[in-house]
Amino acid sequence: MKAAPLWWRSFTSRLTPRRSLRVLNGDTLPATLPSRDLVLMRDDGDDWSVGFQCPCGCGQRLEMMVLKGVRPRWDITTDNRGHPTLHPSVWLRAGCRSHFWVRRGKIVWCE
Ligand SMILES: [Zn+2]
Repeated sequence: MKAAPLWWRSFTSRLTPRRSLRVLNGDTLPATLPSRDLVLMRDDGDDWSVGFQCPCGCGQRLEMMVLKGVRPRWDITTDNRGHPTLHPSVWLRAGCRSHFWVRRGKIVWCE
């Protein structure tokens, strides 16, 4: 599926509610990811990955490693309302080639 134009993605990102972070215990992402929210997988008390569906709508499952020591890895933080921020940005080299930040539950699209 072709991604929506950047201006449309930025527009809808501003209008739609912030995404939340759901914490699940286990060592594999669920077969079905939420349509908008991010899922943090925690195993034995260690946060190890964040999964979500590509926000462009292409249907791709994304998994960002947050476990200490792995590369590449991302930092995931939440604000006091549970809205997640991912650092650094997510840049897909294949498929839809989306490039975006997740900041306090909002998708911030890059060119
Ligand atoms: Zn995509």
